[in-house]
Amino acid sequence: MQAGNEIDPLYRKLRAAANGRFTGCPLDWMERNIALPHSARATRFDREVAPWLNDIIQTFASGEFRQIAIRAPVGGGKTTLLELLVPYVVAEDPGGMLLVGQSDDMAKDFAETRLLPILKGCEKTARLFPSDRHQKRKTSILFPHMPLFIAGANLSSLQEKSMRYVWMDELWRWKAGMIGEAQRRTHDRWNSVIIGVSQGWDDTHDAEAFFNAGEQHQWGVACPGCGEWHRMIWSNVKWDNVYRGTQPDWEAIGNSVRYQCPKCKHESPDTSNARRELANRGRWQKAPSNSIAGCRSFHYSALAVYWIPWRDLVVEWIKADILRKAGDLSALRQFLQKRLAEVWKEEINQAPVDLRGANYNKADYTEGQKIEDEVWRFLTIDRQQDHWWALCRAWRADGTSRLIWEGMVLTLETIRHLQETLGVRDVCVFQDSGYSAGTVYDECGANNWNAMKGSGMGGFWVGGAKRRYQRPFSEPGVVRGPKGHVCKLIVWSNEVIKDELVKLRAKGAPTWEHPKDVSQDWLAHMTSEIKRDTIDSKTKQVKQRYVQVKGENHLWDCEAMQVVAAAHFGVLGKIEAKD
Ligand SMILES: [Zn+2]
Repeated sequence: MQAGNEIDPLYRKLRAAANGRFTGCPLDWMERNIALPHSARATRFDREVAPWLNDIIQTFASGEFRQIAIRAPVGGGKTTLLELLVPYVVAEDPGGMLLVGQSDDMAKDFAETRLLPILKGCEKTARLFPSDRHQKRKTSILFPHMPLFIAGANLSSLQEKSMRYVWMDELWRWKAGMIGEAQRRTHDRWNSVIIGVSQGWDDTHDAEAFFNAGEQHQWGVACPGCGEWHRMIWSNVKWDNVYRGTQPDWEAIGNSVRYQCPKCKHESPDTSNARRELANRGRWQKAPSNSIAGCRSFHYSALAVYWIPWRDLVVEWIKADILRKAGDLSALRQFLQKRLAEVWKEEINQAPVDLRGANYNKADYTEGQKIEDEVWRFLTIDRQQDHWWALCRAWRADGTSRLIWEGMVLTLETIRHLQETLGVRDVCVFQDSGYSAGTVYDECGANNWNAMKGSGMGGFWVGGAKRRYQRPFSEPGVVRGPKGHVCKLIVWSNEVIKDELVKLRAKGAPTWEHPKDVSQDWLAHMTSEIKRDTIDSKTKQVKQRYVQVKGENHLWDCEAMQVVAAAHFGVLGKIEAKD
């Protein structure tokens, strides 16, 4: 830890002695007393094995911090940390302790297979075990001098007990509001400590505020070349992009991986010796932050964890990036959260939307000219209070398409005129009924058009009794407007159809084309929505859905309706529904 940041050891000893606490170095104590039967690297605790844990342990044992947050990679020693702190607390600094896992079952399993063997293998804690076997249950151990509870992250386990220590495991899985419940368990105790550990989470998650409350400590290394400290971040890992044909040459790429100092450009090869050397040169540094007194937060990534080869990370990253470019961000999200232990911000990680026009102009089609091999053209309309947005796209049998017209329209007559000029059949016109449904039904009925409506559902049952299956849009149903006009209504899955549209957008020309002189409105609407985690206000479940993040989205909705129409008329391949 950097100078000036460390707690004066003499002061700490005096203070601890005054409180009747253990006054020695916790790392010495752990090395003397703790065996780790499950560790692949050392059967006894050794401070050299995972050096990034040492200052976290010191921070805990100092008694100076009420809240400690740790954002760490999968397989980076989070569980080991818990296995070290529990015996230390039981033997040297006792107080009621609550360990909260993701679920009751996982907590039980952890207690049985990991925690009990360690507590029994440590002489100082083994002799404190209650002699009455009824005091030992799978989810609690009632030591004579302190209780230890192990539970899942649910309201019943978090509301009943007041604790000196609370350990919150894998915060990223916790439901909204549960971190606050856990914090309330310690509030009336001046000497309480609450610890939250987790891989990375989404920026909308509760864990973000918990983590940001602390002084931010980042793991880095003193460079073997220039000796200067720098943060270990992913962009320091370098490799050569070698291809064999169109495919990445994994062998050659793996062999080229190295770690580069951002200051002097010194390079370390991807060998276990070099990675270990960097770990030995590692230390924490405090970053500027707006923290609350008594709170400290730590972040390190898989780059710190020297037993994970960098080439494995590079292969994972390249594969995730290939998917990202195709519009699928899930693998990149996993990589950032589990490997780099970063906070996922959906919009920042979107592949930049590249909307380069194809080589034609809107004027080439204003008289209703057909595109080559055209089979269908649809006019889709999004109704507002006193105007409409409309969009016409022509489709070929292979699912490729060309945008013919788009823009704002002020009267229904203009739309009708537009439809006739562009040569769109009545059955191929669709108006969104999400706004002012009754009026839309009457307008559609009067013009022999169809209505469409986006929905939160993932799929709809269609087909006869023998061959029922789900697809992301409904059979056309009959609806009637207040003026008595009747039309067909197709309901479609907002999420599934927009996933499909995102894929088309990523492909661009020649699959999904737009003219060189497309409007600024269209360009803006195409990037107005992103898919992200949202919390359902009723069920508190996290759900992924498309949300509007900037400007207006009307032509984006019109394009989504084009996808529905094209699927309905059979020019797009089968689109899978979602449960
Ligand atoms: Zn350097």
